[in-house]
Amino acid sequence: MPFSELIGQERALGALRSALARGALHHAYLFAGPEGVGKATAARLLAQASNCDRAGASPDVAAAAGALPDPCGECGPCRKIARGVHPDVMVLAEERVMARAGRWEPRGGRAPSKDIVVDQVRDLVDHRLALRRGEGRRRFAIVDPADAMNPQAQNALLKTLEEPPDDTTLVLVSARPDLLLPTIRSRCARVAFGPLPDAAVAERLAAEGRAPEEVRLAVALADGSLGRARALDARALLAREEAVAAALALDPDDAGSWIAFAREQGQDREAARETCELLCLWLRDVLAVQAAGEGAPLALADLASFTQSAATALSPAEVVRRLELARAAVGALRQNAGAALALERVLIGWFHGDGQ
Ligand SMILES: [Zn+2]
Repeated sequence: MPFSELIGQERALGALRSALARGALHHAYLFAGPEGVGKATAARLLAQASNCDRAGASPDVAAAAGALPDPCGECGPCRKIARGVHPDVMVLAEERVMARAGRWEPRGGRAPSKDIVVDQVRDLVDHRLALRRGEGRRRFAIVDPADAMNPQAQNALLKTLEEPPDDTTLVLVSARPDLLLPTIRSRCARVAFGPLPDAAVAERLAAEGRAPEEVRLAVALADGSLGRARALDARALLAREEAVAAALALDPDDAGSWIAFAREQGQDREAARETCELLCLWLRDVLAVQAAGEGAPLALADLASFTQSAATALSPAEVVRRLELARAAVGALRQNAGAALALERVLIGWFHGDGQ
């Protein structure tokens, strides 16, 4: 898999590929950015490009020619790295994940935790990194997610970040880099990964064979994360669309029914955010019908009857006001707001907001 397979991260990759081409990789990186935008893939590609039999055969020549090394994905080292069995490319994950994969056994028969624990870090730095480099040209230790390291584990990694072994690069992967100790962060070169453009996510999903209707909904809910978009299956999308239909069918005069709705839909913050994202998408449909008439193309075609009647019943200014309330809820839910309360606030604002 070449670097070009990683969509929408040109800036992050540009820095890495030029360091690679110059043979000047840092000894420690922090790949920071939202879930599902390619951080772990980039770490693997970097390890592959550094050890590929074909791409790296003459890195100086490649650099001189201005070409950037791309792993072939097919040679022995590339395949081993992809399968996670290359002896010089080590990956630390949560204890229970590694235990499930048969790659780690907690000491003293205790149950594996959801953290990356100090024993795992010590095993990496005192044993595996202390060994001589094996068959590869450059050794990698990838910690993903790095924020799963508890403070004790992070402290055990500090010395290695300060004085890494030769020809070794550590890559810490994190969607929540603020959970890392400042001393860890300051010892890593930070590479920022951003959310992906919606168009790029849509293009990729379509190429993977998802139906256009499904692509539209998944992109609307994915928050710029290809990983998230892929994880949203047809059933999950349908459930959210049904929740939106239920919200639209609520009686403005029956406050008890809104509260019941908010409570039921507010059990899970992610689901509540997705419902609010879909409400935004639907309100944009209403505006489209108001502007272009009944023939306007709709993102949520299944809700067309609600859309037509709302387009007639509400003024465009009122639709925009409701859209702003739903958008504010999406923002609040991203910031850990209580889900039921955020939904309640949207509905109260919708049905009783005129007098604010
Ligand atoms: Zn290769």
